[in-house]
Amino acid sequence: MAMLQAKHPGESEYLQAVQEVLESIEEVYNQHPEFEEAKIVERMVEPDRIFTFRVTWVDDRGEVQTNLGYRVQFNSAIGPYKGGLRFHRAVTPSMLKFLGFEQTFKNALTTLPMGGAKGGSDFDPVGKSDAEIMRFCQAFMLELWRCIGPDQDIPAGDVGVGGREIGFLNGMYQKLSREYHTGVLTGKGMTWGGSILRPEATGFGALYFTQHVLHKAGKDIKGCKVAISGFGNVAWGAVKKAMQLGAKVVAISGPDGVCEVPEGMTAEMNDYMLEMRSSNRNRVQDMADRFPDKAKFTAGKKAWCVPCDIALPCAFQNELSEEDARELKANGCWCCCEVSNMGCQPEAIHFFQNNGMLFAPGKAVNAGGVATSGLEMTQNAQHLSWTAQEVDDRLHHIMQSIHEQCVRFGERADGSIDYVKGANIAGFMKVATAMLEQGTI
Ligand code: GLU
Repeated sequence: MAMLQAKHPGESEYLQAVQEVLESIEEVYNQHPEFEEAKIVERMVEPDRIFTFRVTWVDDRGEVQTNLGYRVQFNSAIGPYKGGLRFHRAVTPSMLKFLGFEQTFKNALTTLPMGGAKGGSDFDPVGKSDAEIMRFCQAFMLELWRCIGPDQDIPAGDVGVGGREIGFLNGMYQKLSREYHTGVLTGKGMTWGGSILRPEATGFGALYFTQHVLHKAGKDIKGCKVAISGFGNVAWGAVKKAMQLGAKVVAISGPDGVCEVPEGMTAEMNDYMLEMRSSNRNRVQDMADRFPDKAKFTAGKKAWCVPCDIALPCAFQNELSEEDARELKANGCWCCCEVSNMGCQPEAIHFFQNNGMLFAPGKAVNAGGVATSGLEMTQNAQHLSWTAQEVDDRLHHIMQSIHEQCVRFGERADGSIDYVKGANIAGFMKVATAMLEQGTI
């Protein structure tokens, strides 16, 4: 860590993600001198390569805008680079390096042959028109297309990149490359190679994983109150599945505040989240304005101040602090399944773990999204489409397998599970073994 800090000063998210993994794997690493000899950790913490490029486009007023674009190809030991694109004003190389690092372990847990990558831009979609989004995506792909390919690197969505953006990106990729393979991006539309259930998959998978966590602890999700942060694609899928499983979603939140929903979210309210996302307004207050008798908006507050049994952070890294964890506990919460990537600050995780609360990390909980991207790639390679039942069955199976891997490597002496340790060790062992067997490259 000291070496990395000296080499990459100020890259706080990246250093935080690496620190968490190194702490978890220390014991197994020391049991494998062959890893040490091959300098596996020193190699694994650095991305294979990073592409940085300028993206210039013209806004609706005719003004020329310039943003930065990136693709971090982190690790390809177990398969082609795979991971989303994030469009957000706060995107930096450090953020994408942390996400690419996490992605490498997450993808290893899915049981599918996918390496880790991440990309994106500091382009801010808030307040942009559809036409501006399209012009930006096209300009971004003008540079990115040479770095990607169906057997090389397969990007997908992440914060600020959903089905609409993937459509614009795919259109430009085909135009530039004159290659019409459907498998260079995932999260595609249903009429041009997308997989049924991919939009729901991250949220659905997160709830399947939560069910396993609860089941292992002798609990049931039925009747539980759930608080959720965010109102993007991931939160939308999580709300939908939580409702199907008989839980009550009592809060959703956004950058402007929280909407408390005492009687629980309805299907109509959940559908409205999709409109909120595509409006590019980034305001959760819109939910309370649209459903004034069901949702109560409070400015400046997070979802974690609403009494609940289960907290599901679905928004952004480090969105849940130790103070939030304490407030959750004081209000009766006993389980937090992190759906956003690194959604909880390290102090919050320690608080959950030291206070007898159930906690599972994003790289296990949210892996259903990229896993279903993997299933989309399989369908594309076969030139076939599976049914919803087929995709859902496979997703169930994958989430169960991830849970089993966490139990295998994370079981404590008292029979409880350290899911952070379990997920990190399971992911590490797979990637490290693959690197070792393929020699020093
Ligand atoms: N951005 C998502 C993640 O963090 C999905 C990536 C993908 O489907 O490639 O896992």
